[in-house]
Amino acid sequence: MWLHFTFHQNPIGKGVVNEVGPYIKELGYKKALLVTDKFIEGSDILPKVLKPLNAEGIEYVIFSDVEPNPTCKNVTEGVTALEEHGCDFIISLGGGSPQDAASCISIIATNGGKPQDYEGLHKSAKKGLPVVAINTTAGTSAEITINYVITDEERKVKMVMVDKNSLALISVNDPELMLSKPKGLTAATGMDALTHAVEALVTPGAYNVTKKLSIGAIELIKEYLPRAVANGQDIEAREAMVNAIFLGSMSFNNAGLGYVHSMAHQLGAVYNLPHGVCCAMLLPVV
Ligand SMILES: [Zn+2]
Repeated sequence: MWLHFTFHQNPIGKGVVNEVGPYIKELGYKKALLVTDKFIEGSDILPKVLKPLNAEGIEYVIFSDVEPNPTCKNVTEGVTALEEHGCDFIISLGGGSPQDAASCISIIATNGGKPQDYEGLHKSAKKGLPVVAINTTAGTSAEITINYVITDEERKVKMVMVDKNSLALISVNDPELMLSKPKGLTAATGMDALTHAVEALVTPGAYNVTKKLSIGAIELIKEYLPRAVANGQDIEAREAMVNAIFLGSMSFNNAGLGYVHSMAHQLGAVYNLPHGVCCAMLLPVV
């Protein structure tokens, strides 16, 4: 069982994205492959993230070709971009898809091979290239967990990778980056977060600490998810949801998940559905 209770590495709260530039400079990294998607590239989120990088003179190359369910092709192209531009670390910016793609790019950058080589449990030999994971949704927890999911487009299968070497260097959860998130996405990712907390509560791997974390997450989601969906600009609700996903992710990162996620990944792969929608439909299975 892998324990990841590292609060100090995970800045949470309004304005914490501004700490990213000085933090990277202190560590001495020079050039990032910034892994994101087309929506975020064209949104007001990107300038908020680039500002602290520019202020510290940190270089970056934007790779925005990640699809909603990231594919092996997305990952392979990301690795090529990273190598061509000589990047020495990765910034992942987005919800589950850019985070998952960045995790796989990071692992291949140091271990070589192709995405299929890492399907399953702890298949890599070396730690991945450092990832600064900046989350823009409140739900998938992909920025803070050791799990990632890549679609093998030829086999039409979602490959689940669980790999301690893929854990991000830091994960950044700033609710100010989530204010423009559309209602549908807020609801879907919020239901994903609720599913994580519920599954981790009832799974055989649950124990006293993870159960408390799950219950804390469920209480926050019950109160604040309806508010975040009703009014995306409700910063108090957005911040509470960020705290909820953090609690829930620490729970399932240690206790594990269950049948809903096993089925949701396959449903998403076959019908190309958003992960949170699959979880919401299947949650009664728990
Ligand atoms: Zn999930």
